[in-house]
Amino acid sequence: MIRTISEEHLARLQEGREKAKLLGKEGDVVITNPLLQAKAAPASKVKAIRAMCASCMGCTESYQEPGWKQQVADCSAFNCPLHSHRPYRAKKEEVK
Ligand code: SF4
Repeated sequence: MIRTISEEHLARLQEGREKAKLLGKEGDVVITNPLLQAKAAPASKVKAIRAMCASCMGCTESYQEPGWKQQVADCSAFNCPLHSHRPYRAKKEEVK
């Protein structure tokens, strides 16, 4: 199933673009929320995994848990199917 960004988030994105335009920073608006990034690029497995891990650490489409990236890096749920594919892990843990 292809998921799309909700009307609410589209409206907020448009609002941000209009603000940036007023500030002369058009084109500088970047989606930083991993859940919204995944929705904006539904074919990206990397973004889907990052969104799942962010969600697992308490992030939502409107909230990012402080320190969630480090929490994902330190994740000790070795039985999770995504564990060896999670973002922010140490390089020595990279899957070969
Ligand atoms: S790897 Fe860890 S942070 Fe990512 S989904 Fe699994 S349990 Fe959650």
